[in-house]
Amino acid sequence: MEIKVLKNILGVNEQIAKENRGLLDSKGIFALNIMSSPGAGKTSLILETIRKLDSEFKIGVIEGDIASSIDAEKIGAKGIPVIQINTGGACHLDANMVSSALKNLPLDTIKLLFIENVGNLICPGEFELGEHKKVILLSTPEGDDKPYKYPLLFRIADVVVVSKTDLLPYLNFNMDNFVKAVRTINQKAPIIPLSAVKGLGLGDWFSWLKGVLTGGKRNA
Ligand code: MG
Ligand code: ZN
Repeated sequence: MEIKVLKNILGVNEQIAKENRGLLDSKGIFALNIMSSPGAGKTSLILETIRKLDSEFKIGVIEGDIASSIDAEKIGAKGIPVIQINTGGACHLDANMVSSALKNLPLDTIKLLFIENVGNLICPGEFELGEHKKVILLSTPEGDDKPYKYPLLFRIADVVVVSKTDLLPYLNFNMDNFVKAVRTINQKAPIIPLSAVKGLGLGDWFSWLKGVLTGGKRNA
């Protein structure tokens, strides 16, 4: 019985996600669903992307957190339209939450929408939000074996970002092992190592982003 209920919930979610996608497409907005563990650097990467690309592609942000508006305040301080969703305990965003947020964003002025999911490597992968691409971040302190332990997120990723590469000299993280782990379940997604804080590797991230934004075939 429980399995049946879960299927129904996901079925309703898929329907609302389709409606979100239709709304985004009608406004010409490209949306990214960013997923990672807590503290992997989602907000830092969004902030660096705003700094570099907002003049070219007007950016909007939906921030998902269980509580607080700390991340939304950081984004809002840059003059970027942002909506904070507090899930009140839920460990992922769902399409209905995103639908409400979309009603409160100036959709006519946004070209690129970041949806920062709740920090969690597990169930956010189960819920379509209406996004065009899924971005998975893994920070180097988390370890290079995580694709084996949390396969769903790495399997559905359109791009895998390895964050905090400036810490590599202090860690056992082995990039070759990580790439190998990702490739056992996902042969296509580009893997982009970077450090948002130190400004390393961001060029590869920006060119991936521009590629998907301009309808490039980089990650079709
Ligand atoms: Mg954050
Ligand atoms: Zn969850």
